Amino acid sequence: MSEVENLMNDPQVLRELIMDHYQYPHNHKLIKDNGYMSVHMASDSCIDDITVQSDIKDGIIQDIRFDGIACTISTASTSMMTDLLKGKSIAEAREIIKNYFDMIEEKDYDPELLQEAVALKNVYKQANRIKCATIGWKAIEEMIDESEAKK
Ligand code: ZN
Repeated sequence: MSEVENLMNDPQVLRELIMDHYQYPHNHKLIKDNGYMSVHMASDSCIDDITVQSDIKDGIIQDIRFDGIACTISTASTSMMTDLLKGKSIAEAREIIKNYFDMIEEKDYDPELLQEAVALKNVYKQANRIKCATIGWKAIEEMIDESEAKK
């Protein structure tokens, strides 16, 4: 079994991963830089109110950052997203995002592409958490679309 498959079968480790990313979010705090794109997202069903920034240059996601008020699920899922997509090409990032949304919608997906983000694999069971688990991912998707539209 691969490392990710082992991870998927250990609910306790998955819970700890979510708590870790919530307590110590990665790529947290925004940057003042006009070269960055910025998307603000707020939820009407949760406290989530976040801003996600990204620097996409030469078809590569050079940096992603986020900050704001957010629940455990949205903080952890956005933190994991920044780790996963930083340094990836737009094509790679789109493939990862598609697989993540497939997982959240309870469709087939490739866990190897999602790494730690498989920790959110049971979110589909709680309809009111789906928005939390996708809010940061939708923000980066919007910025990828924007960066491609600019070309
Ligand atoms: Zn939330």
